[in-house]
Amino acid sequence: MSERLKSLSERLDAPLLVTNLTNVLYLTGFDSSNAALLVEPGGAVTLYTDFRYIESARDVPGVEVQLTKRGMMQALGERLKGSVQFEADVLPYVEWERLKAGGTKLVPTRGIVDEVRAVKDEDEVAKLARSAKIADRGLEALTAETWVGRAEREIAWRLRELLHAHGADELSFESIVAAGENGAKPHGHPTDKIVERGTLVTVDWGVRVDGYCSDCTRTFSTGGLPDRLREAYDVCLAAQQRACANIKAGLTGVEADALAREPIAAAGFGENFGHGLGHGVGLMVHEAPRLSPESTDTLVAGHCVTIEPGIYLPGLGGVRIEDLAIVRDGGVDLLTSFPKELIEVS
Ligand code: ZN
Ligand code: ZN
Repeated sequence: MSERLKSLSERLDAPLLVTNLTNVLYLTGFDSSNAALLVEPGGAVTLYTDFRYIESARDVPGVEVQLTKRGMMQALGERLKGSVQFEADVLPYVEWERLKAGGTKLVPTRGIVDEVRAVKDEDEVAKLARSAKIADRGLEALTAETWVGRAEREIAWRLRELLHAHGADELSFESIVAAGENGAKPHGHPTDKIVERGTLVTVDWGVRVDGYCSDCTRTFSTGGLPDRLREAYDVCLAAQQRACANIKAGLTGVEADALAREPIAAAGFGENFGHGLGHGVGLMVHEAPRLSPESTDTLVAGHCVTIEPGIYLPGLGGVRIEDLAIVRDGGVDLLTSFPKELIEVS
C-alpha cells in the first residue's frame, strides 16, 4: 500500500468513501472519470469502478478492485455496511440519496484527504517547480513580442502556443490577459479589447506538467502610466514582497493574508483588494489551504501556496502580482522566478 493510503488510514476512526476523483488519483495513481475508494481504519482499501476502467484498476497495487455499474452509488449503497464517512463537499445530493437508499449510515466529512494532499513531498515539489519554470519561460518569450495593438484574446492564444512550445502538457486554467480598465476585474476573461499605450496589463497564467499545476501573475506597463496606477503597482509589489519575506510554517491563513492586506489598507487601497491572499496548488490549481481573512487553516511545512495580492481600480485598471511558493519551517521557497519590478512591454 502507498504511503499516502497508509497515512490516510491511520487518521481514520471509521471507513471513508472517497469520491473526489482527484483524491482517488492522489491516493492510488488511478486516473478515471468514474471511481470511488473505500479506505478503512485498519488499512483495507477497495477501489470501485465500471467496466471501462476495470483493467487499469487491476494494476493499482494494494487495493481490492470491485466492478460496479456506471451509476455506482446505488450499487455501493447495497454493498456498504454500517457507518461510512463521505466527502460532503463533493458528493451531489442525488448521489447521496442513492447511497443512503441501501441503509448505510452516512457521516458527512470535509477535507480529510485534502489535508493530506496539501502537504507535498519532495517529488511533488520538483514537479511543481518544473511546472512553474516552464510557465516562466513561456511568458518570457511573450514579453519579447509586441503587445500594444493586439487584442487580449490574441495575446492569450499566443501565450498558449508558447507555453506548449516550452513543454506544458496543458494549461492549468485559461490564461487571463486583462488590459486597461479590464484589469480591474480580478478574473476577467480575455476579450477583443486592443491593448493600448499608457496602461497596465495583467497576465495570470499557469501550466500542468506531470499532473502538477503552476499559477503565476505578473502585471506589465505599456508606458506612460497615470500616477494612480503607478502608485497601485508599487503598493501591491511592496505588500507582495512583505508576504513572501514573512510567510512560514506555523502562521494561520489569516495571519499570512494580513501580511499583505495591512500595507495595502494603510496606503488607502483596502477596499480595492477584495479577494484572499492565496490558495493551495497541486494536482488542482485551487486546493487547500486558503490564505484569507476567513481562512481556518494553519500553514505547515510542505504546503504549496500562491501569494497574490491585487489592487483593482474600477474604470482605470488593476494590478496583481502572484508567486507560487513552498512553505518551509523558516520561510518560503519561491517556485516562480519571473522578475517583479514593473516591466514595460512595447
Ligand atoms: Zn493565478
Ligand atoms: Zn492563484
